[in-house]
Amino acid sequence: MSRARDLTRVVGGRPVRHRMAPYYRVSQDRYGKLKSVNDQRYDYELDRVAFPEWEHVDEYADNSISASEYATKDRPEFLRLIADLAAGNLDMIWLWEPSRLTRDMRTFTNDVRPALMEFGVRVYVHNYERLFNFGNRRHAGDFSKLILESENASVDTSDRVNRGVQSDVRSGKPHGKVPYGYVRHYDPRNGEFISQDADPETSRIVIEIFERFAAGDGRRPIATSLTNRGIPTPSQNRGAKKQAEQWYPTTISNIVKRVVYLGQRDHYGVVSPGNWPALVTHELFERCQRQLAKPENQKFARPSAAKHLLSNIMACGGCGSSVSAGLRQDKVTKMYYCSAKGCHRCPMVEADEFVLMEVANYIRRAVTETGFDLAPDLSVRITAARERAAKAREEHRELIADYKAKAISRAVVKEVEPGLLQEAKDAEAEVIRLSVPAPLHKIAEDADPGAKFRAVDLGVQRQILKELFSIVLHRPGRHFDPELHITIEYVKS
Ligand SMILES: [Zn+2]
Repeated sequence: MSRARDLTRVVGGRPVRHRMAPYYRVSQDRYGKLKSVNDQRYDYELDRVAFPEWEHVDEYADNSISASEYATKDRPEFLRLIADLAAGNLDMIWLWEPSRLTRDMRTFTNDVRPALMEFGVRVYVHNYERLFNFGNRRHAGDFSKLILESENASVDTSDRVNRGVQSDVRSGKPHGKVPYGYVRHYDPRNGEFISQDADPETSRIVIEIFERFAAGDGRRPIATSLTNRGIPTPSQNRGAKKQAEQWYPTTISNIVKRVVYLGQRDHYGVVSPGNWPALVTHELFERCQRQLAKPENQKFARPSAAKHLLSNIMACGGCGSSVSAGLRQDKVTKMYYCSAKGCHRCPMVEADEFVLMEVANYIRRAVTETGFDLAPDLSVRITAARERAAKAREEHRELIADYKAKAISRAVVKEVEPGLLQEAKDAEAEVIRLSVPAPLHKIAEDADPGAKFRAVDLGVQRQILKELFSIVLHRPGRHFDPELHITIEYVKS
C-alpha cells in the first residue's frame, strides 16, 4: 500500500492513481490455435516493463472461448471485474485488444461503460498501444466504436491470434498513404500517430464495392454507378495532386485486392496483422478473390505473352480501360494508346523508362529504408496452410467414399462435411494470400533490389506492376512528360 501512495501523483488537485488489472480472455482461431491467457499475460508483462508506474493489483482471466461471446454467465471473472470497477477498486484495465472485454455492444453499454465512465477508468489496449481514458467522452466514444466494430464485423480471430508475442506490434502500425476507407488520428500536441480507424463515409463505399463485386457485379458497372452518384474518387477524397475524375474498373479491382481491408498490413508482399479495424470479413474478401480469378476479370492473365511493359497494365486516365501498344503514323515510334475510346496516348520508350525507374527506386527505398521485414517463417506458413488444405480435402474424399460404401449415414456427412470444406477453403485462401507476390521477395533479397527489378524478365516485371501498382496515363499536354502524365501508386500498402 505504501508503494501505491508513492505512485500517486497529484494533478490539478486530484490524485492520479495507477491501480492496474489485466483482463485476459482466451481466443481461438479457426484452426483451433489459441491465443492463450498465458500469451496475453506475456504481453502484459512486457507492457508493465514499459510502464513502471502501473501498480498491479489483480488479474482477471476467463477461459471461455466460443459461442459464449454474448453470454456472460460463462465468464465469472468478467463479472468480478465489473463488480470491482463498480466498487471503484481499479483505476486502469489492461486488454490485449478491445474485443477481449466484450463483443456485445449491449453488455458494453449497459454494464461496462457506465462503470468505466463513473470512475474515469483508463483502459490500456495492448494491440493499439493506446490508453483510453473513460473520463474523456471522446475516448469513451472511440472505444465504443471499436466494440461496435468487433460486434458488427464478426471479425475472424485467426489473424489477431498471431498478434502479440512473435509479432512486433510497432510494425503493425500503418504506413504510407492513408488507405481509402480509413482516417488516421494523430495526437494534436506532438503529432504522434494514435490510430487508424474506419472513416464513416468512405468505409461504406469500400464495403459496398466488396459486396457488389462478390455478388458478381462487374468492375465497370460498379465504377460507373459510383461515378454517376457523384462519389469522390479515392484520389479526390485524398486531395491528391493529380486526381482521377471518375471511378475506373482498375480502381475497383485494386480495392478488392487489398488486405488492408482485412485489418492486415501488406509490406511488399509480406502480410502481417495491422492495428486497425477490418472493414470486411475474410469470407467476403475471399469471395472477391474468387471473382477476380474468373476469366472475365483476368484479361491480363498471361503476362509473359506480352511484349510490352505496360500494355494492358497502364490504365487510360480518360476512360479507365487499359492501354494497348501500337505505332504512331510514322510507323516507327511505338506508342501506348487507349484502344477503347482513343482518349490518351504516349510514346512507349519514355513511358517504359519512367515506370521502370520509378518502380525500381520505389523498391530500393522500400527495402533500404523500411527494412522489408520478409517474414522468415513465411514459407513455413505457406507449407503448413497447404498441408492443412490437402488434409481437409483428403478427409472429405474419404468421407464421401465411406458414404458411398454405406459405411456412414447421410446425417454424419451432413454434420461433418461443412466443417471440412470450410477448413479446406480457409487454408487454400491463406496459401493464396501468403504467396501472391512471390517474385518481389526474390528482388528484395538482392543486394541491389532496384537494379534487380530492372534486370528481371519482362513477364516478372509485368506481374509485379500488375499485382502491386496502379499506373494511370493522364491527358498529356502538347509535350509528353511522364513525370506529369503518369501516376504510379503502390496499391498494397
Ligand atoms: Zn480512354
